[in-house]
Amino acid sequence: MKKKIGIAAAAVILALALLAGILLGRSQENASSPQVYTGFAMSTVITQTAYGKKAAEAEIELQRRLQAFENRFSMFLAQSDIARINAAAGKSPVSVSGETMGLLKRALELSKTSQGAFQLTIAPVTQLWGITTDHPRVPGADEIARALALVDDDDLILNEEEGTAYLRREGQAVDLGGVAKGTACELARETYEEYGIDSAWLSIGGNIYVRGEKPGGTPFRIGFRDPYQTENSYLASFQMKDRVLAVSGGYERYFEENGVRYHHIIDPATGYPAESDIVSAGVFAQEGTLADFMSTTLFVWGSGRTLEYMRRPDACDVIFLTDTGTLYVSESLRDSFELEETHADMPVVFVERREAA
Ligand code: AMP
Ligand code: MG
Repeated sequence: MKKKIGIAAAAVILALALLAGILLGRSQENASSPQVYTGFAMSTVITQTAYGKKAAEAEIELQRRLQAFENRFSMFLAQSDIARINAAAGKSPVSVSGETMGLLKRALELSKTSQGAFQLTIAPVTQLWGITTDHPRVPGADEIARALALVDDDDLILNEEEGTAYLRREGQAVDLGGVAKGTACELARETYEEYGIDSAWLSIGGNIYVRGEKPGGTPFRIGFRDPYQTENSYLASFQMKDRVLAVSGGYERYFEENGVRYHHIIDPATGYPAESDIVSAGVFAQEGTLADFMSTTLFVWGSGRTLEYMRRPDACDVIFLTDTGTLYVSESLRDSFELEETHADMPVVFVERREAA
């Protein structure tokens, strides 16, 4: 009897497996139905939607690469290149992989354009607050002052010839949290390219990479979140192709104590969460690292400096929402931009770039 049940069960499993195989085969043959894959890495949910024969394979490979990326770059994982650099601060230069050197070099180059708002070496302060950990707390003013004294990107010394990275003073540390998700979008671009995927999008903790168009040539439309509502409510949407949209806002990660909300973007001028009049800033760029760097920087800058930036001839496309409820949008986005019906009466100001001199 037992054996019979076993055989019956095996037959059912086999039938299900065959059916699954047929369905999977179909979905891969039919290039117009997307393959959706949801994974987790870098403390966030990652959703991939890809079209094409090798979509499923590409998504699994990308998930694997994102995990490996986290293992190399997370300051929280003791064996990562970043954790090793941090542990050797003030003691000795640390050999790092070419990939780590490339990312640190680019991130440092960018951070130096932020007029101090973005600091790769913000880690002593972010670690003190622990806002992205399970044990956040409000530190004392003296602790903040001590941690802040260690923040200085000029103390991160990259020696490309030797392949080493070095922090000059003990206690200093690098935190790539402000750019890593954007850089992850570049991994997506590379992986999809390798697998011949022409049509896909990836969402990773508020950052979105769009590759190509939907099969048949319809452009993808991507929403700009309503920070006051649940995750699937949008203020506006954009047509997007072959770009990354990085979004930064105080509503993304925070904790509350005695009725005060403390969010995860630190103003290096004070050591406290940035008191920005920007609620949410989105930056579009082909390069994910640049988009992610810029959105964090704009948030710290606030609306005044952000508007100045948007007028620069070389500025990325930007959308931001102020705490008084106005949306500012780069003029160059006007044609691809649309307010959601529920926000049709929202004030929108389009901002033009100056002509290049
Ligand atoms: P994002 O969500 O891209 O705006 O990045 C926020 C993350 O960047 C935080 O969780 C920290 O890891 C890190 N961070 C916070 N403040 C700064 C800052 N002023 N400069 C650079 N990185 C920061
Ligand atoms: Mg960022």
